[in-house]
Amino acid sequence: MATFDILVTGGTLPDGTITDIGITGERITAIGNLTGSEAGETIDAAGDLVAPPFVDPHFHMDATLSYGTPRINASGTLLEGIDLWGELREEATVDEMVARALEYCDWAVSLGLLAIRSHVDTTPDHLNTVTAMLEVQERVKPYLDLQLVAFPQDGFLRTPTGRENLIRALDMGVGVVGGIPHFERTMADGATALKELCEIAAERGLLVDIHCDETDDPLSRHIEALAFETQRLGLQGRVAGSHLTSMHSMDNYYVSKLLPLIAEAEISAIPNPLINITLQGRHDSYPKRRGLTRVKEMQAMGIRVGWGQDCVRDPWYSLGTGDMLDVAFMGLHVAQMTSPQEMARCFTMVTEENAKILHLQDYGLAVGNMASLVVLDAGDPIEALRLRPDRLCVISKGKVVSRQARNDARLALPGRPESVRRRHKVPS
Ligand SMILES: [Zn+2]
Repeated sequence: MATFDILVTGGTLPDGTITDIGITGERITAIGNLTGSEAGETIDAAGDLVAPPFVDPHFHMDATLSYGTPRINASGTLLEGIDLWGELREEATVDEMVARALEYCDWAVSLGLLAIRSHVDTTPDHLNTVTAMLEVQERVKPYLDLQLVAFPQDGFLRTPTGRENLIRALDMGVGVVGGIPHFERTMADGATALKELCEIAAERGLLVDIHCDETDDPLSRHIEALAFETQRLGLQGRVAGSHLTSMHSMDNYYVSKLLPLIAEAEISAIPNPLINITLQGRHDSYPKRRGLTRVKEMQAMGIRVGWGQDCVRDPWYSLGTGDMLDVAFMGLHVAQMTSPQEMARCFTMVTEENAKILHLQDYGLAVGNMASLVVLDAGDPIEALRLRPDRLCVISKGKVVSRQARNDARLALPGRPESVRRRHKVPS
């Protein structure tokens, strides 16, 4: 008779399989019918969805939970947000940034979000942002994988110490190369920045994640240069383009040339639907553009697309909880991914596809992989998107790190049920 540290019984996996999961140490050691096994702790997941943990491929941990400091973003635009952040990063201490980030990581864990890629601003010469985020990375390591991107927010070439500070951040231990070509002074400077950034990544064997064309300007075509440099330097499969919002406004003929180039370079795309729908189209009257990149068209070309969170309670976005289901829910609506297959894909995008973008090792519900999973109060992935329900139990690296009691509403209606859970099955 098998013995496990933790046994999760009777859960429904995202593909509909109903099964038990046995955990020993920090690994999944058995999946199947484990009736009769003993365990230090048994978690009854009958009727509930058991999924691999959520993964966020795009976040700004150095700015999170700073909303209203030093002021609220009055225009609601990306550019005012960048100005506000420019003030805040000079005022905020390392301790303040660490405290805010740790609080956000608590929220993330409670929601089953156990891996986050965060861009870290490398603009200020003091690099307090980098010092703070490296400390957070170390402190959350036992339960949350925090991947850091060196991000020259005010420009790699546009600021005098942009290049130098990005390299200092990499030397300090930041592991991914970032950039913002549409914020450089000219299109030509944007292309030069991308060339140098990709060369730095190639020399150091690092991944690349560029804030690319986050604008409504249809002529912002830095993604083309990014695809070219990726190919030239043999970085296929190691580069991501975040946002790509200009693609929403591009000419269709040009896009028909562009998508095959992105596919050929194996660049992943990371739209951030909560933020893109909020920040883009601000210069439009009506019709007002959505500003989300061409998600379904890229997927049809075989390009990997993952939904990112980007911001929670910071100079760019006043709301947010850290829930990747909110992100996927918004993406589903804005990209009109409403068929059953497309909705299910939205769930995969915030779990398995994002894990691939981050190059996470040992991720997923399979024997031998890291024992990290989340039990949701929903019957399947589409219901999880609809309800964005409580996370009843979150396990990270073999340890239960969060629990939440099931919380059905209690009704007081004559002749009606006493409680309601809002679940709903399609009649078969
Ligand atoms: Zn961003």
